[in-house]
Amino acid sequence: MIEDAIWPLRTAVGRDGHVRIGTHDLAALADRYGTPLYVYDAETIRASLREYVDAFFRYRPVRVAYSVKACALIGVGAVIAREGVDASVASLGELEAARRAGFPVSRMELHGNAKPDDEVAAALVARIGRFVVDGAHDIERLARLVHGRRHRPQAVWLRVAPGIKVDTHPHLVTGTVDSKFGAPVSTGEALAQAQQIARAKGLALVGIHAHIGAQVRDARPYGELARALVAFAKEVHAATGAPITELGMGGGVAVRLRSTEEAPLLDEYARAVTGPVRKDRALRGATVYVEPGRGLVGRAAVALYRVVGTKRVPNVRTFVAVDGGMGDNIRPALYGAEYSAVLAARASEPATEEVAVAGRYCESGDVLIRSVRLPTAHSGDLLAIPAAGAYSVAMSSNYNETPRPAVVLLDGARARVIRERETIEDIWRLERR
Ligand SMILES: *Cc1c(COP(=O)(O)O)cnc(C)c1O
Repeated sequence: MIEDAIWPLRTAVGRDGHVRIGTHDLAALADRYGTPLYVYDAETIRASLREYVDAFFRYRPVRVAYSVKACALIGVGAVIAREGVDASVASLGELEAARRAGFPVSRMELHGNAKPDDEVAAALVARIGRFVVDGAHDIERLARLVHGRRHRPQAVWLRVAPGIKVDTHPHLVTGTVDSKFGAPVSTGEALAQAQQIARAKGLALVGIHAHIGAQVRDARPYGELARALVAFAKEVHAATGAPITELGMGGGVAVRLRSTEEAPLLDEYARAVTGPVRKDRALRGATVYVEPGRGLVGRAAVALYRVVGTKRVPNVRTFVAVDGGMGDNIRPALYGAEYSAVLAARASEPATEEVAVAGRYCESGDVLIRSVRLPTAHSGDLLAIPAAGAYSVAMSSNYNETPRPAVVLLDGARARVIRERETIEDIWRLERR
């Protein structure tokens, strides 16, 4: 029942039916820290990063940048920062979180299709490594704010929309022409923006970037992406003289949420995004940047919930209701993410019943899992959802005035709280009447 590849490393079921990660009994963690609880495992984060680095081993120069938005917790970021990779951030808050986690600002890329003036100014003061232009308005803003501020020109990437469609949920597609992200290549807008950057004082166009979407299961669109960026980089060089030395391929490689899904093929992905670059005479030496988010943290966390009660509708469905839901993980409601679950203290019992796991929030769409087989669940049982590390806590909210969960980080024999459980008073702290 515990399918290795979707649980943290060293997850096993003891003779007592309890799920353990290494020496840590999930039921004991829930008793000690309460529920809902997110449990991240540092060793699994490091192993996931190693898988990326190993997949790219033969294809240098390559840099891996952690996409901080997948999980911006400083305690999680610190595990990744210690491994010496870069960070990809999408706001000033993420920049600061990444800095506190230990990533050097000079090794960060700042993304965003709507960066406010004050965030751009603060990123320049912090000496952001790469500024990713996303829209003509960004060029004007950056040129204005960089003026007189820096000795060296600001390194800039241009985000483009290469017009590549990927097979995933519509909310997760980001590289088509009809997208709020990136300058379309096909309309000539991308080249026009490249020329504008090249002309601007204080800016150095060094890279082209695109991110085609998320939960992508197939390497083919990444090959298309790499070919499109190589072709466009040459066009830019011809038109502006700017030597393009960096190609950002984004992230988005799928992680498995259920054991029935196929494992993503990182080797194929690595070959797909580097192949066209290495084959091209002009761009052979360019550095390829990959920005995994979910790939580094998705598998590393288990979400723990207490079963509050069960509702049986004969011949229709049985709902097992838990004490969390869309406030701590909105992905099932937002784009139909399909998770699995086990009862964490009864994991060796046969799964005899097909149920839906209902969240506690006042929305019919707040169903964490539409269908999963479990032993008959009772109030007080502990439910564990694996592969819950990405875009869960990061997207959490206080809907229904509900405090956000605590987060624990396991590292070997140690377990420590890296985010305290919020209280109701925390929620009201900024309110005035
Ligand atoms: C979100 C994002 C990523 C990471 O995507 P994952 O699906 O988590 O790998 C990488 N690059 C950019 C620009 C992004 O917006």
